[in-house]
Amino acid sequence: MKDELSANKQLRALPGDALAVAEEYLPGDNAYDADGTIRALKAGIVLKDLKEKEINVKSTAVAKLPDVGDVVTGQIEVAQSSTSNLKIYYLNGKPTQGGFVGIIFLREERGGGRGMRRTAMKLGDVVRAKVISTMNAMIHLSIGEPHLGVIASLCSVCGRPLFMMDGRAQCKNCGNVEDRKFADDFGREPIQP
Ligand SMILES: [Zn+2]
Repeated sequence: MKDELSANKQLRALPGDALAVAEEYLPGDNAYDADGTIRALKAGIVLKDLKEKEINVKSTAVAKLPDVGDVVTGQIEVAQSSTSNLKIYYLNGKPTQGGFVGIIFLREERGGGRGMRRTAMKLGDVVRAKVISTMNAMIHLSIGEPHLGVIASLCSVCGRPLFMMDGRAQCKNCGNVEDRKFADDFGREPIQP
């Protein structure tokens, strides 16, 4: 790999940048031939393989870590009585490849004075949450605000999507009614992460 780099000068490319002409190089990783011009498919560092006459772009995209105040959307992959784990797929509305998992402490979502609230979320629910702490590298999430909570959910009985009817989520297929801590746009399609 070191041989591919010309000294310590690292050439960076953005998607679409012209890297070479096709007579000189073949498109390698993350590069393509556009009418005789080799262009970058992704942002990254340009690596010229002189032996193979190939030009590659080494992707340098690093997933941004969720920060306090960020809004994340994902799917509940572990649901216990006091905590749920949310596999994060969107960070502030944009897809993230980070593979982050956040934790929601359900004790904090308790209804005022009436003990443990209804089932706040279930396995597989799509949930929008806000990052309230990243202490000890743990992404601590809250669903307390009206726009936060479950935005899509499937019927526990038959597996069809639930719809909001009269303030409760109902299955049009089997009539099952379920409760959650819903976001104010629950059931809207397409989902707004
Ligand atoms: Zn159903």
